[in-house]
Amino acid sequence: MALDTLLSIADAVTRVLGDVRPLAAESMALADAQGRVLAEDIVSPITLPPWNNSAMDGYAVHAADLATLPVTFPVLETVRAGGTASQALPRGHAIRIMTGAPVPDAADTVVRVEDTDGGVERVEIRRDRDAGKNIRPRGEDIHAGQLVMPVGTTLGAAQLGVLASVGAATVRVYRAPRVAILSSGDELVSLDRFDDVLAGTRIVSSNSITLHALVRAAGGVPVDLGIARDTPASLREHLARATDCDLLITSAGVSVGEHDFVREVLESLGAEMKFWRVRMRPGAPVAFGMLGSMPWLGLPGNPVSTMVTFELFARPAIRRMRGHTRLFRRPVPVVMDEAVHTMAELTHFLRGTVRTEHDVRHARLTGPQSSGILTSMSLANALIVVPAGIAGAAAGATLHALLLDGDAELLEQFAL
Ligand code: AMP
Ligand code: MG
Repeated sequence: MALDTLLSIADAVTRVLGDVRPLAAESMALADAQGRVLAEDIVSPITLPPWNNSAMDGYAVHAADLATLPVTFPVLETVRAGGTASQALPRGHAIRIMTGAPVPDAADTVVRVEDTDGGVERVEIRRDRDAGKNIRPRGEDIHAGQLVMPVGTTLGAAQLGVLASVGAATVRVYRAPRVAILSSGDELVSLDRFDDVLAGTRIVSSNSITLHALVRAAGGVPVDLGIARDTPASLREHLARATDCDLLITSAGVSVGEHDFVREVLESLGAEMKFWRVRMRPGAPVAFGMLGSMPWLGLPGNPVSTMVTFELFARPAIRRMRGHTRLFRRPVPVVMDEAVHTMAELTHFLRGTVRTEHDVRHARLTGPQSSGILTSMSLANALIVVPAGIAGAAAGATLHALLLDGDAELLEQFAL
């Protein structure tokens, strides 16, 4: 492929992911493994629940003893959660029992306390709606020897809870990638040099901040390579600090400007160029290559381009390294509340807000769409995709959006 051919987004994403593999597994304490992906199958050594247990606070009885109501039984004992009954339940008797406590042998029913007089020595039972009910059987959740969680599972709160229940104090998970972040540009300073910005000669390297945040949000560990000047020597010097990293992300210096040396320097360091330039806006000059075994993504410097190309290429790559198999945000259909104008040659990612009205998602733009206007991104909760092949969309047309923020107004949605 000639390097100056604009690739389709699908081809570009496929190439990046084709060169990225899940990292090696590491062991970690379960409590630290939130958000990680299991690198081993977890088989339960135990059965859960370990005993038939009561789903209610009430009285264990025989359903057959409830034929005529009300009925009064002697209460033989009380079993609390953490205790055990000292006997099987004889007919014509009751054992007081708390939620989670083992149900005495022979009992087939727990009558909730609300349907009784609550007695301790004797109990009067007034209703039979619980006959044959309220016993959670041993093993209703998990059996010893069962595969409870397969390799590849992302560990959220529920998964961590299940693993804790079966005693997985330490788990094997895929390592989180160390992601080197390099900004470049003679116009850039770090935030602590805002005096230079006030003096009117520099701008803050906001990409350094956004990229750190994006890497963390994607599950990577950011490694700051600082801000290189627009010289091959400065770029080389900063890049030398990327040793031990799993992914290199650079921003700026990959376009066709006179001082855009990033690709040239990467090649001089032995990088194999995989692609440069993709049929997208913003972000067309994005580059990808392999520096030895370390993938390199050269993101364009315009702050919005940096974020959009990160979303499309870097985030999925980081997620694959962490062992995830679902790499992309889910596209959802949106009805456009305003017309949008784009070039049919490129797929456009417009910054927008999506809101739901009568179960239909509606989208509008956050304002001017120049790739230098970072506030258009900070106001957005979605990227609206206008695919190549169409020149914009009319108001009322349906497009797809990538939702950047999954949270919703539940009360409005369900009128709760
Ligand atoms: P370049 O890709 O080097 O041509 O940069 C494109 C535009 O992005 C220029 O206006 C740069 O000033 C801007 N830019 C590049 N890097 C950064 C950065 N780290 N933070 C904020 N803006 C940047
Ligand atoms: Mg530049």
